Amino acid sequence: MTQKQQVVVIGAGIGGLTAGALLAKRGFDVLVLEQAALPGGCASTFKRRGFTFDVGATQVAGLEPGGIHDQIFRELGVAPPEVTPCDPACAVYLPGESQPISVWRDPKRWQAERATQFPGSGPFWQVMDDLFTRCWAFNQTEPILPFQNLNDLWQLLLKLKPQTLTTLPYALQTVGDVLKRSGNRDPRLKQFLDLQLKLYSQVGADETAALYGAVALGLSTAPRGLFHLKGSMQVLSERLHQALVQHGGRLLTRQRAERILLKDGRARAVQVADLRNEKAWEVPCDQVFANVTCWDLTRLLQLKNTYSRQVNQLPEASGAFVVYLGVKNGCIPPDCPPHLQFLDEAGGSLFVSVSRPGDGRAPAGMATIIASSFVPTAPWWGPQDYDTLKQTATAAALAQLEPYFPGLEEHLVHQESATPRTFKRFTHRNLGMVGGVAQRPWQFGPLALSNRTPVPNVWLVGDSTYPGEGTAGVSYSARNAVRLLERLG
Ligand SMILES: Cc1cc2nc3c(=O)[nH]c(=O)nc-3n(C[C@H](O)[C@H](O)[C@H](O)COP(=O)(O)OP(=O)(O)OC[C@H]3O[C@@H](n4cnc5c(N)ncnc54)[C@H](O)[C@@H]3O)c2cc1C
Repeated sequence: MTQKQQVVVIGAGIGGLTAGALLAKRGFDVLVLEQAALPGGCASTFKRRGFTFDVGATQVAGLEPGGIHDQIFRELGVAPPEVTPCDPACAVYLPGESQPISVWRDPKRWQAERATQFPGSGPFWQVMDDLFTRCWAFNQTEPILPFQNLNDLWQLLLKLKPQTLTTLPYALQTVGDVLKRSGNRDPRLKQFLDLQLKLYSQVGADETAALYGAVALGLSTAPRGLFHLKGSMQVLSERLHQALVQHGGRLLTRQRAERILLKDGRARAVQVADLRNEKAWEVPCDQVFANVTCWDLTRLLQLKNTYSRQVNQLPEASGAFVVYLGVKNGCIPPDCPPHLQFLDEAGGSLFVSVSRPGDGRAPAGMATIIASSFVPTAPWWGPQDYDTLKQTATAAALAQLEPYFPGLEEHLVHQESATPRTFKRFTHRNLGMVGGVAQRPWQFGPLALSNRTPVPNVWLVGDSTYPGEGTAGVSYSARNAVRLLERLG
């Protein structure tokens, strides 16, 4: 009998769990190591005083029939989580405005909203919608990007259709370039695009790759869409964990990978710290799937080569500052959309998720409000007093929320905040950076970081790799890496 190949997956985020479950289904002997007490990483939850808070991700793309999560659950033979579509996907409030720009799920309604909100923007949206259609059709061919050799390039060329080639002139353009070329100078539209794109690509319209931006902006409408999970975000990782176990894989929590040990240029074992008793142990491996950031991978491999230099030259990823509130329903306006975005006069933006009655996140008569903003990580690790910084940021977030949730402070039952330091502790991500590598033209698609690493049996999975952040993005990343192992391993 041939021995099964042993795969060690470092990290049980959505990327690691998806890769682990798919590999177990394909007959590999899979062990997933997770440093936290629970799987899910940035898409997990925590409980306080009867409330369940989603740590980071609160809405999910790719759960529609045929979407990436749906495809993976079908392949794994596990039922997808119960969901409701978000409609509108988001209600965006620009400074000084009391009526939102609502990103409706119905494409016709969203088109009408765009025409009303941004008169004269038709040519811009026409280009973006066309790019979306062409990119999406290419995406359905399940390309493995980026290509790294002639064989990869050949495989990619076989998938190219004439309509894909017409996107090439946009390959090095940004959304801002498309906006300028369409002759649009509407500052409201620019603000709206900056706000929405920062959620998906970490950077605004002037820096986001046009092809990535087209997909990100087009995903919210039917037949695709954004979804709210019944229960909590934890359900997504619970289902993936269930699939992992069903196919013979194992997950060990409170186990932190400290180093990937190499011999003759290949990984031969992973050195692990058991965080329950601080004991060190080693697990032999044939393959390693690292569901960590690219910066953390270079540390695990102790690399000092071209790859580590390339990684260290990448612009820093954002951190997140998040306020988690448990409130009495009295401050929630009637018909409050599940997701809102606020921009204030000073340029401060907040993305807000509000639970719905009966969605499993709050006791009867109460709700959760989660408000996040992207922040640079450096100040949170610098000489400034950490507690003062945290209090100031919390007070600013509450002040920004108060006009929309009148009487918020009197309705508070629970309040706490997470900073880059919290994310570092909870997810072990470099400096608490979240969101992976920003989607600028020279870091996206063929120029993105590959699942392949300089060590042939070590694979990088997650939001540092193509196609970027979000639970849907890291699921593509995991599936690509698994396919590469099948092809090359
Ligand atoms: C505030 C915020 C809001 C967001 N909102 C959304 C949203 O609404 N929708 C959406 O789709 N996405 C959202 N995202 C992004 C999304 O959560 C992430 O892109 C995605 O969950 C990342 O998954 P991952 O598997 O790549 O990494 P992670 O979630 O970081 O998972 C990595 C896992 O590996 C573990 N780990 C790390 N190092 C080690 C080690 N050495 N040993 C063992 N274990 C290790 C970590 O504990 C973690 O569990 C949001 C993120 C944040 C922070």
